[in-house]
Amino acid sequence: LERAKKVLAGGVSSEFRKYNHPHAIFYSHADGSRIYDVDGNEYLDFTLSQGPLIIGHSHPHVLKSVADYTEKGQLFAGQHIKEIELAEKLNKLIPSAELMRFCLDGSSAVHTAFRVARAKTGRKKFLRFEGHYHGWFDNVAWGLSGNAPALGERYAPNVYPWSEGLPEHARDEFIILPWNDLALLKETVAKYRDELAAIITEPVMCNNGCILPEQGFLEGMRELCTTHGIALIFDEVITGFRLSLAGAQEYFGITPDMSIFAKAMGSGYPISAIVGRKEWMDAIEDAKVIHAGTMNASNPTIAAALATIEVLENEQPYDRMFALGNRLMEGLRKAAFDANQDLLVQGPGPMFNTAFTDLAQIKDHRDTLACDKARLGKFISQMHDRGVRVIGRGLWYINAVHTQEDIDHAIEVAAKVLKKM
Ligand code: PMP
Repeated sequence: LERAKKVLAGGVSSEFRKYNHPHAIFYSHADGSRIYDVDGNEYLDFTLSQGPLIIGHSHPHVLKSVADYTEKGQLFAGQHIKEIELAEKLNKLIPSAELMRFCLDGSSAVHTAFRVARAKTGRKKFLRFEGHYHGWFDNVAWGLSGNAPALGERYAPNVYPWSEGLPEHARDEFIILPWNDLALLKETVAKYRDELAAIITEPVMCNNGCILPEQGFLEGMRELCTTHGIALIFDEVITGFRLSLAGAQEYFGITPDMSIFAKAMGSGYPISAIVGRKEWMDAIEDAKVIHAGTMNASNPTIAAALATIEVLENEQPYDRMFALGNRLMEGLRKAAFDANQDLLVQGPGPMFNTAFTDLAQIKDHRDTLACDKARLGKFISQMHDRGVRVIGRGLWYINAVHTQEDIDHAIEVAAKVLKKM
């Protein structure tokens, strides 16, 4: 840590700083669903490097694909035959993907979608939801990121639209509403329809509580956007390739105008996609919106994405990932109950969230956002000390190489930690 602090701002990543891990851990290597620190300790990994490693660390097919393509030259800035191949594949797979462009990460692809929405509509404002996260670029999507509020805190006062908490220059650009409140969404869209370029949503609120959309919420959003010519953007950075191969839009059967895929798409290689219906994406074709970026669509990233998607297509791990996730969620709930701990475990399965909260007080989904951060921090770091790595804010990711033994081991460790707490 001392060495890191001399050369890396902050010494450790913001995740470690934010969640007050008692000790910084530095990793040396990883394999499959295991990650190892510099002292040689082994961890069963449920962070998957914040999600991307859906087929595990160092999958041989991905490594070979990257090696094969890069041996033929590292062509950057696109125009590679394999880029077309990847786009054709996604075009077939993803309902909303008529045209697309590749970027390096979720943040830059979200940024591009916002610019497309503005170029096509000539309007300026975006509507987003509290507790959702759309990247770390502070002039477009910053604010209200995935930090669970402390117990008793709410994201926002019950006055909407709300934009406090955003940097000042963004306050005029964003309207923020609570998730899953269709009546309020309708009311707000009616008021601002002539100013709204896009509504952006995580189709499952993964960055906070892992909350599913209520029946009719996404459908209602789709209808409002169609009626008023507003772009509906699904941020599938987490749900993409995870809820199902073609993401939440396939899982829920709702087609957005544009969507963002990243994380799992490239097994950790820096690639994302902004995909969309032709009538929106031709803003890029018409050069109204610049899509540049020296490193976008570079050979190794395209190779990694093609190989990852091939593995997912061939293995179809989704039923297994749901089953393993549900087994783990059930096991954690039981372990918490046995230890007399109020632990809320919720999510669709391939990803889910754990929060320490007063279960008796939960009336609607907004109450599930509250979390006793100190207890959560204790839980996460004690799990870590016993070799199970979970994302600091309580998010767990299942991957295609986790086994039932891994799941049962994690439950056993959690049971011990919860009892001790
Ligand atoms: N959108 C969502 C839903 C995310 O979860 C994230 C990252 N956690 C992003 C966007 C930003 O993606 P990236 O970190 O790749 O820039």
